[in-house]
Amino acid sequence: MTESKALPAILGGEPVRKKKIYYGKQWVTQEDAAAIAETAVSDYVTCGPKVEEAERLLCELTGAEYAVLVCNCTAALHIAALAAGVGPGDEVITTPLTFMASANCALYCGARPVFADVDPETYLIDPKDVEAKITERTKAVVAVDYTGQAVMIDELREICDRHHLVFIEDAAHSIGTVYHGKKYDGAVGSLADMTCFSFHPVKTVTCGEGGAVLTNDKALYEKLLLLRSHGMEHDPERFLEARDEGSWFYEQQLLGFNYRLTDLQAALLISQLRKLGSFAARRKEIARRYDEAFADLPGIRLQREREDSDTVRHLYMLRIDPKVLTCTRREFFDAMDAEGIHCQIHYIPVYTFPYYRQLGYEGHLCPVAEEIYGGILSIPLYPRMTDEEVSGVITAVKKLAAYYAG
Ligand SMILES: *Cc1c(COP(=O)(O)O)cnc(C)c1O
Repeated sequence: MTESKALPAILGGEPVRKKKIYYGKQWVTQEDAAAIAETAVSDYVTCGPKVEEAERLLCELTGAEYAVLVCNCTAALHIAALAAGVGPGDEVITTPLTFMASANCALYCGARPVFADVDPETYLIDPKDVEAKITERTKAVVAVDYTGQAVMIDELREICDRHHLVFIEDAAHSIGTVYHGKKYDGAVGSLADMTCFSFHPVKTVTCGEGGAVLTNDKALYEKLLLLRSHGMEHDPERFLEARDEGSWFYEQQLLGFNYRLTDLQAALLISQLRKLGSFAARRKEIARRYDEAFADLPGIRLQREREDSDTVRHLYMLRIDPKVLTCTRREFFDAMDAEGIHCQIHYIPVYTFPYYRQLGYEGHLCPVAEEIYGGILSIPLYPRMTDEEVSGVITAVKKLAAYYAG
C-alpha cells in the first residue's frame, strides 16, 4: 500500500473538487459518433471521400492551399521533415520545451536535432538562438506554437529564407490561432512552409488519433502525398518510367509509409472541425478568466502573451516563483492533486531524456528552458469545463498560493 501524501495543514478537510478533473479532455458528442457510424456503413472506410472532405475543410479553416491528413502528428512531422529533404548528416533546429516528437522527426530521418533556447517570458523558441545554432548542416527549423501561441513567424521566416532553411511549424497546440505580424498575417496553417496539426484527444479537436501537414507549396504537397502512402503513384502522367502495362499499373517512386487516416476518423474530424469556432471561443473565455484571476497573484507568474498572436490556448501555464512561494513545484503539483485538480507538466526538456543522453546530448544546453521547466504546471483547460470547475481551479490556486506565500 502506498502511504497517503501528507497534506499541508491548511488544506485539511474537503478538497476543492471532490471529483477529480484533469488538465485536458476531449468533447465528443452523439452527433460526432453518428458521423462515424454513418461512414462505417458507407462504401469507404478508408482512402475515401471523407479524408478529402476533411482536407478541404482544413484548407478552408486555415487558408492553406493543401492539406494531407495522416494518422497522427508524429507521422506528420516525419513526412514534413522528409519532404523538406532532411537526411543523414543534416541538422534540424527545434525547442527542448516540447513533446519529444518535434525533435524525434529529425532522428527518424537520420539527422540530428539541435536545441535552441526559448524566450524567458513567452516560452517560445527564441529566433536569436535559432540563428546562433545554424551551421552549414542545418536543413530545417521545427518551431512549436507552445501552448497555442504562434511562434515569431516574421522573424523565423526571415531567418529561414536568408539561410535557405525549410520552416516547419509544429502546430499541435495551435489550430485556430491567428497570427498578425508585420509581414505575415493569417491563420496558423497558412504561414510556414509546412504546418503540422495533431488531433489527439488532448488537443483542441480530435479524431482519436490523427494529424495533418498543411502547405501552400504544390511540390511539397505532392511529395507528402507519396510519403503518406508507400511512395505509390497511380497517375500515368506522373510515372517516372514509361511502362505501358495497363490501367492497373502503379509505381513506387520513393520509400513511403502507411501513414493514412481512415474515413471513420476523418468523419469524426469533420464533425469536430465544425465546432472549432465554439471550442476556440470557450478556450479563450476560460483563459481570460484565469488571466484575470491570477494577474496579480503573488508567487504565480504567467506566460507572457504576444500581441501578434490571437491565441486559442491549448495549455494554461502557471509558473511558481520560488522567490515568493516557500514550496517546490512538486509540492504545489501534489497539493493541487489533493484538491482534486490533476495538473500536468509540459514539458520535460527533450535532451535530458536517457535516450538523448546516450546520443551524446550533455549538459545544460538550454538553461532558460530548464529553468522554466522547473517552475511550470498546466492547469485544466478544455471547452467542456463548467464555469464551476473553472472557479474551483481558481479557488484552489489562490488558496495554495496564499498558503505557500507564508
Ligand atoms: C501532441 C504533440 C505532438 C504529437 O502529436 P501526436 O498526434 O500524438 O503524434 C507533437 N508535437 C507537439 C508539440 C505535441 O503537443
